[in-house]
Amino acid sequence: MASGTRQIWKQYRSVAIIYRIGIAFVLGSVLGLAIGEPATRLEPLGTLFVRLLKMIIIPIVFFTLLMGARRLSPSSIGKIGGQVILLYLVTTAVAISIGLLVGNFVNPGVGLELADTSVQTKQAPDMLEVFMNIIPTNPVGAMADGSVLPTIFFTIAFGLALALLQDEHEPGTTIHDGVQTLFELAETGAEAMFKIVWGVMEYGVIGVFALMATTFGQAGVDAILPFAKLIGAVALAVGLHIGFTYLFVLQWGLLRESPLDFLKGAKEAMITALSIRSSSGTLPVTMNDADENFGVDEEVYSFSLPLGATINMDGTAMYQGVAAIFAANLVGQTLTLGEQVTVIVTALLASVGTAGVPGSGLIMLTLVLTQLGLPLEVVGMVAGVDPILDRLRTMNNVTGDLAVTTLVAKWNDRIDRTKTVWTTTDSPTEVASDD
Ligand code: ASP
Repeated sequence: MASGTRQIWKQYRSVAIIYRIGIAFVLGSVLGLAIGEPATRLEPLGTLFVRLLKMIIIPIVFFTLLMGARRLSPSSIGKIGGQVILLYLVTTAVAISIGLLVGNFVNPGVGLELADTSVQTKQAPDMLEVFMNIIPTNPVGAMADGSVLPTIFFTIAFGLALALLQDEHEPGTTIHDGVQTLFELAETGAEAMFKIVWGVMEYGVIGVFALMATTFGQAGVDAILPFAKLIGAVALAVGLHIGFTYLFVLQWGLLRESPLDFLKGAKEAMITALSIRSSSGTLPVTMNDADENFGVDEEVYSFSLPLGATINMDGTAMYQGVAAIFAANLVGQTLTLGEQVTVIVTALLASVGTAGVPGSGLIMLTLVLTQLGLPLEVVGMVAGVDPILDRLRTMNNVTGDLAVTTLVAKWNDRIDRTKTVWTTTDSPTEVASDD
């Protein structure tokens, strides 16, 4: 008997967590639809999940961003690195704006109401205040209050200062070694946080079941449409960003190359990302595309693509825009301009520390919603459809890495014309020498 139970448990655990959450989402929804109001008694189980998520927000921001700042070590950034980082940031900001535009247009969450919302309507802050509030007057206080944006700001500043110190001091000196130790601590702390995240997600199977049962128990069949609209809105935003920003502006406008050729060269990476939902996991394929299909110099892509897989997450950041509007719809609020700017800034800064692994966009969503004071229940609710959304986001993420990498490589004459899929350029350029 005991071994039978163990067997069932083993089989249960062998299904990837996000699919178990997806199944819980469906079963919870069905239960809510079937029994209606009584299903709302499960609400505390959902609330527990939300509290667990809240618990890890500030530590995860602190540890992962410190690690991210280490990767941005000033000594590794030359002219090409600077261009890559700047373009990554600009395209991510454009992506979030597109996500917000599409979200405002589709209003995916309208028609669905969240059970008991303890959200207070806040006085809309003006723009200046939004920017001023990014800078904490007391970093420890900001962390203690759970204020995400000021915590992000302070941690990035701290991380960059550490990276600078590491560059300035010789190995073996107290400061250099101390910085190393701090970075190692951050890495260990981040790993520990991810262990907790996975524990929380294990419980998330029950949490999401309860949240969905409560939602559908209250709203009935009307709740189906908002989720379909959310998926549609994310697909539309991804399509617009790839079509407009990458193909039209970067490839055609700035590179003067055929957008179709770009898609031809990037297709392996795009398809892999779509299937495995991880930009880090797709990295070898993305690098291969950069090398074999676009003829990008190794010196460029070996820096830009691993960096992109961690800090350049256009799809993930854009999703924050759509999801923030979805969450606001659920509590019957409209996001003010200042709040939408807050989404842009939070998602942009948070993307520095978000890992390119399946589902990390959901963690980022907890930061964005916390910053806006919107209910974290939404994270549990969208977790059920995340296996679909994550594919779209990840495909967008790796496409963005390649679009920027090819552009910077060509700007700096680091393309081997004998290899590239591009057909439109009349005069093939020489492979640039290493220096
Ligand atoms: N899975 C995404 C990636 O690896 C991150 C996310 O949006 O969850 O790029």
